Amino acid sequence: MSRDILMEARGITRKFGAAPDMAARIAIRLGLAKPAPVVHALDDVSLTIHRGEVVGLVGESGCGKSTLGRVIAGILAPNQGGIAWRGGDGEKAGREAGLSTQMIFQNPMAALNPRMTTEQIVAEAPLAHGLVSRRDCPAYVDKYLRLAGFDPQMKTRLPHQFSGGQRQRINIARALAVQPEFLVCDESVAALDVSIQAQIINLFMDLRDQLDLTYLFISHDLGVVEHISDRVAIMYLGRIVEEAPVEEIFARPNHPYTQALLAEIPRIEPGGKRKFTTIAGELPSPLHPPGGCHFHPRCPLAMDRCKVEAPCKKEVAPGHFSACHLNDMA
Ligand code: SF4
Repeated sequence: MSRDILMEARGITRKFGAAPDMAARIAIRLGLAKPAPVVHALDDVSLTIHRGEVVGLVGESGCGKSTLGRVIAGILAPNQGGIAWRGGDGEKAGREAGLSTQMIFQNPMAALNPRMTTEQIVAEAPLAHGLVSRRDCPAYVDKYLRLAGFDPQMKTRLPHQFSGGQRQRINIARALAVQPEFLVCDESVAALDVSIQAQIINLFMDLRDQLDLTYLFISHDLGVVEHISDRVAIMYLGRIVEEAPVEEIFARPNHPYTQALLAEIPRIEPGGKRKFTTIAGELPSPLHPPGGCHFHPRCPLAMDRCKVEAPCKKEVAPGHFSACHLNDMA
């Protein structure tokens, strides 16, 4: 695999909350109103993805992984930080990244215009970007539908006439038709039946080989991520807490949160008993993230320092990074 850097997210911070208008600002200043709550979705997140790599981004629901996917795909702007594409971060690099990065969402029906035929859906973006002429468009659409494992003979039908798996194949064909290098897949198989999930995952892997694609694969499902990824990043409440090659993270998880996530995967023990341990407590609200290490209220190994000081990422083995104060004591 080439080790050229394709995409770098640098120090991304993203908050959500209504900006107060003039009247609200005056009322807040006079103590007559409280500031609107702010959701701290991403807190100084950095992530590097190399060309040809599949990076799995894992975390509990609400941890900020979809927001990071949207920022990386250029759908959301960060409040701080930025995205570099092939090392460049100017306007030109941004335009190049915009076309070269496509996102595939969880709900295939919601992502498709119900009034457009399959052919119109797949043809729309390549025609708009001048990637194909109107005359050559039908054959072009057929090619990308076939690549996504969809029979082009059904291209005159509307999205509601298809199953969830077929709709996701239309989404994939639409993304491929703009000739991307990088796909951001946000829980792209989570809404599908298990047998269809396997087909779509295999399709992603075939496309990686055929088209030399790079993936950010966002999922709450460690089993799916283990199957498909070269490298895994674990996210907790707006921060990446651990990052490592896939075999390393499953064999030698360093961060207590990663260890807890892995302990949650059900295993069959000798004697046929199913065993798994759930993580204590719930993910705190991103409206009021805990100070210091965000994981400290749930961490069985938390120390006083963890409540006040956020840990920095440290390389604990080649290519294996973890943000935990315990590594300073090793
Ligand atoms: Fe637990 Fe402290 Fe490590 Fe956070 S920094 S994971 S609270 S030991």
